[in-house]
Amino acid sequence: MLEHMLDGLVVGGGLAGLTAARILTKAGRRVRVLEAAAEVGGRVRSREVEGFTLDAGFQVLFPAYPAARRQLDLDALDLVPLPSAAAVRRGEREDVLGSPLDDLASLPATLKSGALTLTDKLRVARLAAALRASPAHELLTGPDESTEAFLRAQGFSEAALDHFFRPFFGGIFLRRDLATSARLFRYYFRMLMDGGAALPRRGMGEISRQLAQGTDVLTGVKVLRLLPRPGHVTAVTSAGEIDARQVIVATDAPAASDLTGEALTRGALSSTYLYYATSRRISGQHRLLLNAEAGLINNAQWTSLAVPGRAPAGQHLLTVTVLGLPEVDDAALDARVRGELSRWYGAEAAGTLRLLGLERLPYAQFEQPAGYAATLPGHATRLPGVLLASEVTSMSGIQGALESGEKAAAIVLGDLTGMSRPRGA
Ligand SMILES: Cc1cc2nc3c(=O)[nH]c(=O)nc-3n(C[C@H](O)[C@H](O)[C@H](O)COP(=O)(O)OP(=O)(O)OC[C@H]3O[C@@H](n4cnc5c(N)ncnc54)[C@H](O)[C@@H]3O)c2cc1C
Repeated sequence: MLEHMLDGLVVGGGLAGLTAARILTKAGRRVRVLEAAAEVGGRVRSREVEGFTLDAGFQVLFPAYPAARRQLDLDALDLVPLPSAAAVRRGEREDVLGSPLDDLASLPATLKSGALTLTDKLRVARLAAALRASPAHELLTGPDESTEAFLRAQGFSEAALDHFFRPFFGGIFLRRDLATSARLFRYYFRMLMDGGAALPRRGMGEISRQLAQGTDVLTGVKVLRLLPRPGHVTAVTSAGEIDARQVIVATDAPAASDLTGEALTRGALSSTYLYYATSRRISGQHRLLLNAEAGLINNAQWTSLAVPGRAPAGQHLLTVTVLGLPEVDDAALDARVRGELSRWYGAEAAGTLRLLGLERLPYAQFEQPAGYAATLPGHATRLPGVLLASEVTSMSGIQGALESGEKAAAIVLGDLTGMSRPRGA
């Protein structure tokens, strides 16, 4: 791998690293991305299993993310909008709830549902109006508290918290206790109102593949150490050494801590996913399913109903989200999740489900409790010539990853507009 000095080396081919590399490449810099895994994308990947397209965990794109609008060709992603209502499951009972994205009054099913009281529905509408009043990025500033404290201060009932907010935002924040910063709750709520949620037809991995186009990426190469030298940095990798004038570390926080010596780790949130195939149309529900009862399942989706084409003809795909890393083996976990699905659909229908895949993600997001923003690291590191990208400089999500890549590139290019853009803008 020894060759002429690169202008820039990006460590990590997730969304942050790919974004930084893409901007620098377009600006005419000679930049290479080194990615330890066999393919790019980091946490945003998809794979084909027996003709089914499985995303790495259940995640969605909010097309209103400002950085997504700047960096992605949203049309080329062929986005399929997800229904703006959710179905709240309590055993056999299913209540359709208009999510905060829309005018609730336009959804008769919402108004009929017993999952929220009428007063709670009006509070959702009032909250939505209040959050529309300012530019979205300003919702990331101001006083902070937990999402739960914020929702209680808004007057929401216990039932609203348990039936809607815990499972819905549990799926976004990967924790059901609503301990995540209320600033983030307000920001994501606004993103949902501004553009809903969508999935690329061919999988979330399309986002990463699109960002990687036209960029020099070497996969299967792990960077082991960074050695600052006069005028350049030497990266010691699993495939030899490589020199670059500047290095952008765009790995997950634990790896970035190891490489830079900075204290970046903020606590990990884990999640687990089970993918089921069946040839039986067990349900016609294409909306997000929220489990309002105690149990392992937080949320689930008939992915093939929401995004036709994710399953082969005549087949259906159900993706189940379990928060955390349950301490049971795969067979026991499958059996317990199946038991919960039996309560939803009956034992016979649940018996037709075939486990296609099971994925445990120990590091899906980093923890973002109230006040977390005050502890965010900047892009500089103690190593001369080494900058940081990665969501860990911003917020744990696609907007955070993309904007951190943008900012690292702006610093390299001396682009003042890019450097001074507020978080979330
Ligand atoms: C299950 C799940 C659900 C999510 N849901 C959502 C959602 O709905 N909406 C949303 O906005 N966000 C969501 N997120 C978060 C979002 O996916 C992440 O914020 C984002 O992908 C982080 O990108 P990144 O580039 O900062 O880091 P990563 O994706 O972690 O990329 C880092 C890359 O660095 C590589 N690497 C690490 N060490 C080295 C090394 N030493 N040498 C070379 N390469 C290395 C890794 O292999 C990886 O590819 C979710 C995440 C998960 C996992």
